[in-house]
Amino acid sequence: MIIAEWKPISEIVEKLKGHKKVLVAGCATCVAECAAGGEREVETLAPLLRMAMEKEGNSIEVVTATLERQCEPEFVEPLAAKLIGVDAVVSLACGIGIQCLAEIFEDTPVYPGVNTTSLAIREEPGVWGVRCEACGACVLGETFGLCPVARCAKSLMNGPCGGTRENGACEVNAEVPCIWLKIFERAQARGKVDELLRFQGTKNWSNSRHGGQKRVVREDLRT
Ligand code: SF4
Ligand code: SF4
Repeated sequence: MIIAEWKPISEIVEKLKGHKKVLVAGCATCVAECAAGGEREVETLAPLLRMAMEKEGNSIEVVTATLERQCEPEFVEPLAAKLIGVDAVVSLACGIGIQCLAEIFEDTPVYPGVNTTSLAIREEPGVWGVRCEACGACVLGETFGLCPVARCAKSLMNGPCGGTRENGACEVNAEVPCIWLKIFERAQARGKVDELLRFQGTKNWSNSRHGGQKRVVREDLRT
């Protein structure tokens, strides 16, 4: 899922100066799951913002709404009714949801209430580990289901780098395992170490986030 974390309230307050009525908009999917932008967080942030603004000498009205999804126009468009009289939105959705709001309601300033951090999996309560960087040319089929792009500090396609610590941790970040060691161990468990001897040529990065905006086009779904 997409992981996000609250921005410091002082940063949001700075953006809201001069506004009179603000909508705090949540999203009930990923950001709700990671406790950053669901209904509970929206209803928690709204009074905090109101109080923080008052402390700054700016009295504002804060209204709230949590959409089922903030990244799909059909879920976002009905929000128009809630925007009457609203002169700014603070979105607690991921960066996609925030931009979806900003594109649909282009006359209203939409400010991010969160920092979107990663595509991750919940490893334990309160801990998420990144699993994907949306590189656009997935190599999980060659790496036994473990992503070296997101999980190797050097994004190596032919690892390990030689720096793996004795306890199996990555040389760059001792808090995480060397993913190439994990890839090797999984290959070994399946009796397929020989597959790792095949040199992986230069990865196709052309569909990664480098080189301008990435777009995904599915002709079969176009109308
Ligand atoms: S190889 Fe690319 S698409 Fe596949 S999991 Fe890793 S970052 Fe994501
Ligand atoms: S120790 Fe392992 S995970 Fe860390 S950079 Fe080297 S190969 Fe990548």
